[in-house]
Amino acid sequence: MSSVLVIGEVAADGLAGQAAELAAAARAISGVDGKVSVAFTGAPGISAPEIAANSIYLIEHERLGESDDATFDAATDALTALAKEIQPKAILFGRSDSASVVAPRIAMRLNASFARDCTAIETSGEDLIVTRPVHGGNANARFRITGAGPHVIMLRPGSYEAELAGNSTPEQIRFDPTPHIGDSRSTLLRTVQEQQEGVRLEDADVVVSGGRGLGGPEPFARIGELAELLGGAVGASRAACDAGWIDHSHQVGLTGKTVSPRLYLSFGISGASQHMAGCSSARNIVAVNTDPDASIFGDARFGVVGDWKQVLPALISAIRDIG
Ligand SMILES: Cc1cc2nc3c(=O)[nH]c(=O)nc-3n(C[C@H](O)[C@H](O)[C@H](O)COP(=O)(O)OP(=O)(O)OC[C@H]3O[C@@H](n4cnc5c(N)ncnc54)[C@H](O)[C@@H]3O)c2cc1C
Repeated sequence: MSSVLVIGEVAADGLAGQAAELAAAARAISGVDGKVSVAFTGAPGISAPEIAANSIYLIEHERLGESDDATFDAATDALTALAKEIQPKAILFGRSDSASVVAPRIAMRLNASFARDCTAIETSGEDLIVTRPVHGGNANARFRITGAGPHVIMLRPGSYEAELAGNSTPEQIRFDPTPHIGDSRSTLLRTVQEQQEGVRLEDADVVVSGGRGLGGPEPFARIGELAELLGGAVGASRAACDAGWIDHSHQVGLTGKTVSPRLYLSFGISGASQHMAGCSSARNIVAVNTDPDASIFGDARFGVVGDWKQVLPALISAIRDIG
């Protein structure tokens, strides 16, 4: 594999966010002599975060500043033009609102193959092999992508360790998108802002989730307390959300959000496949459940057969004691 293009997005805190993980994935498939390029789009004045790559393309335009449909149209135009110019074998996107709109459009314009929601990517001769969770996260399927490329791949957050600093400073190249950006065919009618306190569930390194076993809405205050102590976010099963104990924006699973934290702590969740579909790529699942036969113990790295009413306060107090 020779050239891999990563489509980066700068996180709100100015760090590389998933772009640094994508750069690591790109390095893994580009080979020793390969080239990893990372493209950042935005309004004039953007600066690239520290990232391990051979080249960084800065693509600035006033139409690339917002996160709306008109921006996505402009980003599609600009990134398609860049891909045509540098002809990468693979184009890697993370998971974001923008990526989910732009990536398939670019694949269509380049007549490229397209795979989304992948958790790993490797080479096999001239082909690419991607891994994707299937059957609600109960199995992983490996797909061989053949042909010369380009191949457009979307990777789940947390699939690779972020690679921030390489051995050499990347070359910074300004790519002028102006001649390529056409009129937008989309109009933004209205933006609905989700109420957000603390860490975003999808980005959290630690998720503390509660299910029907909590027995009511009140225990979610303690779940929130533990999440806050660990710098994490609160998740929930659909049963807990349907019961009205917590807002559906916290729902993890097939019809909720997909999370990939380092630590997923669950209290009173049975581990139905539709729930696990949203958290099976967590690095470590810790389950607390009174039923030793609960299926979540099959997915958990550590399990406590016990009542949350005893385990959760004890855990909170032990963490407070540590400092
Ligand atoms: C099409 C479809 C989509 C779905 N999408 C989702 C989805 O996105 N997310 C999702 O979560 N579900 C989803 N579901 C629902 C899913 O099948 C389960 O019904 C749901 O996940 C169960 O939630 P739960 O584990 O909280 O409840 P339960 O299955 O009722 O489990 C409660 C658990 O708590 C334990 N418990 C009880 N008391 C205590 C205690 N005191 N201390 C500790 N443990 C205790 C019990 O042993 C039990 O294992 C979907 C279903 C369908 C059909």
